[in-house]
Amino acid sequence: MTAQAPVLILLGPPGAGKGTQARMLEEDFGLVQLSTGDLLRAAVAAGTEAGKRAKAVMEAGQLVSDEIVLAILKDRMAQPDVAKGIILDGFPRTAGQAAALDALLAATGQKVTAAISLEVDDEAMVGRVSGRYTCACGEGYHDEFKQPAVAGVCDKCGGSSFKRRADDNAETVRERLKAYHAQTAPLIAYYDGKGVLEKLDAMGAIAEIRSSLGRIVAGVAA
Ligand code: AMP
Repeated sequence: MTAQAPVLILLGPPGAGKGTQARMLEEDFGLVQLSTGDLLRAAVAAGTEAGKRAKAVMEAGQLVSDEIVLAILKDRMAQPDVAKGIILDGFPRTAGQAAALDALLAATGQKVTAAISLEVDDEAMVGRVSGRYTCACGEGYHDEFKQPAVAGVCDKCGGSSFKRRADDNAETVRERLKAYHAQTAPLIAYYDGKGVLEKLDAMGAIAEIRSSLGRIVAGVAA
């Protein structure tokens, strides 16, 4: 990664829109989305040692150990495309991960450009997450908020192979919200202390949040 490449963090509970907005930032700013959830799901699907250790923890809505997550993230950050700048989606989630990220970036003379906290109401998150599903191409949909224009056909790729995450059910979402408040929400104060925190009301429409977020990113990453 070059010294100027932006390092953006999206903070927020499950359902806040981190993944959706990170993909839009990729399109709008040419940055690379790094989602530890996606990397872990790929490890589970591939049946790697890390994936085998992570699977039950993820299904219970709890946090995978820092050791596993950091190993997966470091591998991904060693790939050349991150030189464009990154949007971290779902990482860091603990104080230990935040400190490890600072150390990893410091080794190449970099630091976090901005940590953007997507502010939402917890109760609404259960409904948002429970209804969501994804096309095999990565495009996200929701039973209530975002159906494809033609039922059963992806707007983006025309495919019809959709899937729902095993942990996107009401019971597991409540566990994930608890984990967020206990272990991840304290990072808001951590990044505030470093002077890189931005807060954004993320209860509105996806397109509105995209433009507000775009203004923040243009301001910090120009
Ligand atoms: P996500 O796709 O970000 O909602 O993550 C799905 C699940 O993967 C979480 O509920 C955790 O079990 C695990 N996970 C993802 N990222 C992390 C992380 N940074 N630290 C610990 N566990 C994680």
